[in-house]
Amino acid sequence: MKRIGVIGGGQLAWMMASAAKELGIELVIQTPHPTDVAVGLAAEKVFAEVDDVAATAILATKCDVITFENEFVDLDGLGKIDAVFLPPLKALAPLLDKYTQRCYLRDLDLPVPNFALLTQPELPPGFEFPVVVKARRNGYDGQGTFIIKEKSALADLYYRYPDTLFLIEEFVDFDRELAVIAARGISGEVITYPILETQQEEQVCRRVFTLEDLPDDLVEMCGSIASKLLISLDAIGVFGIELFATRDGRVLVNEIAPRTHNSGHLTIEACATSQFSQLIRTVAGLPLASTELTCSGAVMVNLLGYEDSQSDCLEKRQEISAIPNAHVHWYGKESRIGRKLGHVTVIADMDVKNARQQCENLARQVATIWYK
Ligand code: ADP
Repeated sequence: MKRIGVIGGGQLAWMMASAAKELGIELVIQTPHPTDVAVGLAAEKVFAEVDDVAATAILATKCDVITFENEFVDLDGLGKIDAVFLPPLKALAPLLDKYTQRCYLRDLDLPVPNFALLTQPELPPGFEFPVVVKARRNGYDGQGTFIIKEKSALADLYYRYPDTLFLIEEFVDFDRELAVIAARGISGEVITYPILETQQEEQVCRRVFTLEDLPDDLVEMCGSIASKLLISLDAIGVFGIELFATRDGRVLVNEIAPRTHNSGHLTIEACATSQFSQLIRTVAGLPLASTELTCSGAVMVNLLGYEDSQSDCLEKRQEISAIPNAHVHWYGKESRIGRKLGHVTVIADMDVKNARQQCENLARQVATIWYK
């Protein structure tokens, strides 16, 4: 395999491109934005919207197989063109709409929060406030996810977006949020990365921590959710699985991303094989590689835009880079409030007694520099 097509040209495609290069593989990118960060690393580009199927047909002539960094695609349209997609379109089909995704998971007997379609400006039977209302399609980074505490707010939301189809679900008072990055290769084997803890603020991921000393039953639950899901989907590729760990010891699936995921960025420095390299391996038909943690602990902090500006935040990035074992990844985007502009992964000292404590301190140190 020489060339992989990628639909999307943002930071995920950029990190894929670096991983691909190490494996001697080139990427061809379909993106509407010539300024996207992955464009500079791509062997060839097709400048078009990610749901432009005619453009994807052109992309297909330039590569051996097509994968995704973004799921806002026209699946029916893609089904009509002559190309190999990995993950296969059949594996994406139940996942692109949050409602059909929930139904798919429930029908597989995987644990999910109680959910229903929102078809009127009132709580469906069996729900009570607070609830979470989500746009069925095209939500990301908390856009399209609303925590609703009362009747009037529910009605407001319903009427404010008359053209949006919504799903409503119980508000899960979780103990913590977890993520599992899982890969399935051409041989059918499923491999998972160490379970991670993700921390969101206002529905946006702020930090991700490695975990130590997890109870065996929790590890077992997360692993079996990942295997069951990827096998049932007959998936090939890398999937991000977001989970709620409840206070009474259960694990509920929040969301499945059929691609590499923000929660797995620390695998670049903290694991034997990054999620990006693993994706390239699965798509190129290479054997899966070790997902093992290679350090005592790590934390990833997203660098979110704190102002609308053209600034490249160079001084702050330099200050963060000066933290020992800090690795800054900068996506070169224009700054807008709340936008993911980059991330930093910091690796804990090998001989540290309490790696988690050190990682929490490092996350605070990064945030202090970044948001000061
Ligand atoms: P997105 O696709 O925009 O990332 P998610 O569905 O993953 O949206 O939700 C983003 C965040 O919102 C979650 O990580 C979690 O913190 C919070 N959230 C989502 N659904 C629920 C829920 N049912 N109960 C409690 N919090 C939720």
